Amino acid sequence: MSDPAILCVAITGSVPQKSDNPAVPITVAEQVASTREAFDAGATIAHCHVRGDDGTPSSDPGRFAELKAGIEAACPGMIVQLSTGGRSGAGRMRGGMIPLGPDMCSLSVGSNNFPTRVYENPPDLVDWLAGEMAAHGVVPEIECFDLSHLYQAHAMWRDGRLPTGTGGNDAGRPPYVQFVMGVRNALPVDRHAFEAMLATKRHLFGDDAPWCAAGIGAGQAVLNDWAAEAGGHLRTGLEDNVRMDRATLAPSNAALVERAAEAAVRHGRRPATPAEARTILGLRAA
Ligand code: MG
Repeated sequence: MSDPAILCVAITGSVPQKSDNPAVPITVAEQVASTREAFDAGATIAHCHVRGDDGTPSSDPGRFAELKAGIEAACPGMIVQLSTGGRSGAGRMRGGMIPLGPDMCSLSVGSNNFPTRVYENPPDLVDWLAGEMAAHGVVPEIECFDLSHLYQAHAMWRDGRLPTGTGGNDAGRPPYVQFVMGVRNALPVDRHAFEAMLATKRHLFGDDAPWCAAGIGAGQAVLNDWAAEAGGHLRTGLEDNVRMDRATLAPSNAALVERAAEAAVRHGRRPATPAEARTILGLRAA
C-alpha cells in the first residue's frame, strides 16, 4: 500500500443534466457541496466546469472564480483544475479563467471527433492556452483523446511550450497526461489501445512520469481498474459517467470516488493525500 493513487473527481462537465441524474451539481453551491463529499471520500483533484443556473455550459470567469474560492475554502489542499475544454466556449473564451491562477487547467493539444461534432483544437489556440498557463503559474493536465496527442504534448514540452510544475523542482519534469477512452467516435475502451497509449507515454516521457486515465460511461470503472493496476492515477465523477451500473444511477460524486478508491486498494494502492498529490504533480504546496 505504498504507491498512492491520485483520485480526480470530474464533478459536473458540460453534458450531463439533472434530467440524466439529479445528483449532477449545477449551481456553485451544489458543486462545492458535492466536491466536499468527494474530497472526504479521497478525491484530491477537482476537475471543474461551470454552468449557468439553467444548466447551460458556460466559460464565465466570474463563475469559475466563485467555484475556485468555494472549493479552496471547503476542501483544504485539494487541487483545483479548471477546464478549458471546447464544449463550453469557443476560441480564446475557453481560456478566460486561466488568469485566476488555479493549480491546474486541462489542455487539449489536438483535434478529434466527438459524438456529434469535431472537437477542434487548432495549433495556434493550443499554443495560446499553454502560454496563458505558463504566464499565470498554472500547470496543464494534457487530455489525450488520441495517440497523436501524446506526440504533440511531447513536441510542445521539448520546445518549452508547456509549463510542468510550480513546486520549485520543475526542471525536466514531464507533463501530466491523461488518456481519455470511450468517447464515441474517438478512442474506444480497448485494452490494445490502452497498452499502446501507456507504451507511448513511457517511450516519450519515461516510466516514472505520472499519468492518469479516464473512461466514459461504463468504461469509467474499467479504466479505474486498468490505471490502478498499471501504476496510473484515476479519474471518476459524474462528468464522465452518471451510473453505478446499467440499472442504478450514481447517488453522488462521492459514491464514484469510493468506487475508484476501492479499485486502487484492490491493486495494493491507496488514495493519495492532497500533499502527496501535489508532490507527485510538482505543484506548489497549498
Ligand atoms: Mg472536462
